[in-house]
Amino acid sequence: MQRTLVLLKPDTVQRFLIGTLIGRFEQKGLKIVGLKMMAMSKETCDEHYAHMTSKPFYPAILSFMTCGPIVAVAIEGHDAVAVVRKMCGLTAESEWVSGTIRGDYARSIDTNLIHSSDSEETAKVEVARFFKANELFDYTRPLIS
Ligand code: GDP
Repeated sequence: MQRTLVLLKPDTVQRFLIGTLIGRFEQKGLKIVGLKMMAMSKETCDEHYAHMTSKPFYPAILSFMTCGPIVAVAIEGHDAVAVVRKMCGLTAESEWVSGTIRGDYARSIDTNLIHSSDSEETAKVEVARFFKANELFDYTRPLIS
């Protein structure tokens, strides 16, 4: 089992798509093990997008990610990092495919609704960035098996 981090960006919240996007992961059989609405601080954004801070468009990312609440979601499942990332869709608009979250709902590369961790190592760091240990839940599903 793997855990991965999803961030539902401010456009997801403002377009009332929180339930729709979380529902996709639940329908896939992935387990929500952490869930939190929060404001992203400049410090957290700089850390989270450290690989982007030198890009000319980073001020736009910062302004977007801090313009309203986001929702952090910790997701668990078999091969969860790769499965969730595939469900989200690629970064470039030209590579968006119907059936993926970005392909079905995103409006532009700037307003692309969702972040997901890109590797198992990154996922561990990112889950810990947004959730304390006691905000993550281990639970069984006896009715499901
Ligand atoms: P992701 O893993 O698909 O979200 O992509 P990255 O980690 O490479 O980029 C982080 C975020 O920066 C993306 O989700 C986009 O919102 C933004 N971004 C990446 N590349 C570009 C770009 O070329 N132009 C603009 N305007 N935004 C970009």
